[in-house]
Amino acid sequence: MRDYNTLDYDYPPYRPPNEAGSALIRASRGCPWNRCLFCTMYKSLKFQPKSVEDVKNEIDKAAKIYGNAKTIFIADSDSLVMKNIEDIIKHIKLRFPDAERITSYARAKTLTKLGSERLKKIKKAGLTRVHVGLESGDKKTLEFLQKGATPEEMINGGKATKDAGLDLSFYILIGAGGKKRLKEHAIESAKVCNKANPDFIRLRTLVVQHGSLLEEKMKSGQYKPTTPIEKLQEVKIFLEYLEVEKCELASDHLTNYIWVGNNIVYRGVYGILPDDKKEMLEIINKTLEFLAITDDEILDATILYERGMIHSL
Ligand code: SF4
Repeated sequence: MRDYNTLDYDYPPYRPPNEAGSALIRASRGCPWNRCLFCTMYKSLKFQPKSVEDVKNEIDKAAKIYGNAKTIFIADSDSLVMKNIEDIIKHIKLRFPDAERITSYARAKTLTKLGSERLKKIKKAGLTRVHVGLESGDKKTLEFLQKGATPEEMINGGKATKDAGLDLSFYILIGAGGKKRLKEHAIESAKVCNKANPDFIRLRTLVVQHGSLLEEKMKSGQYKPTTPIEKLQEVKIFLEYLEVEKCELASDHLTNYIWVGNNIVYRGVYGILPDDKKEMLEIINKTLEFLAITDDEILDATILYERGMIHSL
């Protein structure tokens, strides 16, 4: 049984949804970029790579807390910027000899800078997958959100990752373009995915968080959030333009849900592309048809968050 109450272990505050069962190793704290308008994750934290010695000690503790875990996630947001990341990953392999998957968040810009040769070394050390916040493939949306990476860097970072033999997981932020760039955001995001050909695409719907810089833009009218129906239309366009080779797509987050009254009527789309694309589009079309005729109130995570019915996202 895992002891999550171990007080002297540095648990990371965030991890991707599919790493819920993984051993969590905090190699660095915070985000070296920390400027994205929509993100509040590490705002109060200055980026701090930990010393290799400290991280090795944490890994030794993690082996006691998590036992012989099969999946490991390295936090916080961009630990691949660390000079000695290979040494850290090798120590993870030493303490978790049966690990089948070792993953990390990484910024596309970092992946581009590292390039496929260095990424091959990181893979050789034991890393298997990177989770990348693409958010959008639309240049103007990325600029507006202050993502700090261009669509070209997203593509190049993704390609370098794949060339190195690592699995690539892209996160798309539904609603990122707001009303103004809904279509461009959907189409250009699909195009970036088509060029980088990720192994995984995860959809996450934007909820403008209290205290975020995006909230200020929204209040001043520079960002206009989309309705639940518009968000679904955006997913539809994104899927229609998506032509990836073999990719698992999942909407593995509560923010993707749509409620009518008290009932969840949409839980997102899941499947393997391209085979399941038709079925996913059918689910979206049926949901859109239903939403067009319902008299009940249509709700999404944004509305529930605004009403104080959802607190943490
Ligand atoms: S790069 Fe990621 S962690 Fe850093 S500010 Fe942007 S969204 Fe947040």
